[in-house]
Amino acid sequence: MKKTIKDYDIKGKKVIIRCDFNVPIEDGIIKDDNRIRQSLKTIRYARKEGAKVILLSHLGRIKTEEDKEKYTLKPVAEALSKLLRKKVKFINQTRGKEVEEAIKNMKEKDVILLENTRFEDLDKQKESKNDKRLGKYWASLGDIYINDAFGTIHRSHASNLGISKHLKSGVGFLVEKEIKELEKLTKNPKHPYTIILGGSKVSDKINLIKNLAKTADYILIGGGMAFTFLSAAGFNIGSSLCEKEEIPFCKELLDKYQDKIILPIDIITAKEIKNGVKTKERFVNEIEEDEIGLDIGKKTLEVFKQYIDDSKTIFWNGPMGYFEIKDFSKGTKGLCKIMSTAKAYKIIGGGDTARAVIEMGFAKDVNHISTGGGASLTFLEGVKLKALDIINEK
Ligand code: AMP
Repeated sequence: MKKTIKDYDIKGKKVIIRCDFNVPIEDGIIKDDNRIRQSLKTIRYARKEGAKVILLSHLGRIKTEEDKEKYTLKPVAEALSKLLRKKVKFINQTRGKEVEEAIKNMKEKDVILLENTRFEDLDKQKESKNDKRLGKYWASLGDIYINDAFGTIHRSHASNLGISKHLKSGVGFLVEKEIKELEKLTKNPKHPYTIILGGSKVSDKINLIKNLAKTADYILIGGGMAFTFLSAAGFNIGSSLCEKEEIPFCKELLDKYQDKIILPIDIITAKEIKNGVKTKERFVNEIEEDEIGLDIGKKTLEVFKQYIDDSKTIFWNGPMGYFEIKDFSKGTKGLCKIMSTAKAYKIIGGGDTARAVIEMGFAKDVNHISTGGGASLTFLEGVKLKALDIINEK
């Protein structure tokens, strides 16, 4: 078990908390503050205990000087000040005299947010490539390091792994909760255990499928990736998405897990991917050469419902169709509806699926929505999460 912020006496200590404030910002306005809200519990706890709180986070990707204006964390400091009802001092630097002075002058319960850690990427990608000296420098600013940024915990960056190497470390409440929830899928999950996978690519999910197929009872496959499986199963998929190089892998899985892998039986097709285009409902053996499969159909949803209703544990990652366009969002929405009444323990794995479930209004009907798409998938692949692995054990 990893140490948590609760395992340290943090009164009067300089506690560096790595948060995930990677929120969508347009023209300086935060479009969705969910990630900021998710970080509040740990920050509030640190303040209550009398720590001096130093916050670090990345935001977007910084490739040019111009990106800096777009991806400054200043709006986050303002939003955080309101949510905490305490002025969060924003330092528009990632290191240097101003940072060091501000930290020296901190009192207990003060909160400082430094500028976007990825500003350091302009110089040989120092943050993202875990530059040793940068990690050591950031560590020199504090006494204890707390990682509460689940979204990047599978990566080795200077602001996570790099700092942890030099300081006593623990996880925050958000990371602790994420791991506890995801372990429900890996440590004796209640059976029947169903995995629902969608999204565009099989290639992204090969290791996940290999690992989960061992323990899951059923794997329901929709989205663009279903078409590579359907092609492997011998269907003509017309102009649908297909990763030809993955067909052998799909064939092997279909042979090995005949009774586990459930593919769509009907789909929605169109000749173009755009709003208002003419759509057709097709059985999977009826797809024509110039048609693209863009969503799962009603009959597939009925089949999926039977497995879902029968399950005690469900993990879902990946939309069932091209859900950004309304005409192809019915499969994903229909699945949300089916999930909402299912009795199973239901976990949603980050990214697009999390967005779809939240936007479609079903967040309250599931048990957990992960804040990290890539991190949750890496965890379920059975691969060590690099920046978590290095955190001190209890
Ligand atoms: P991923 O990033 O692999 O999870 O894939 C998510 C993306 O897959 C979304 O942007 C969807 O629009 C897209 N997607 C889902 N179903 C299909 C499909 N049938 N054809 C093409 N793209 C799809």
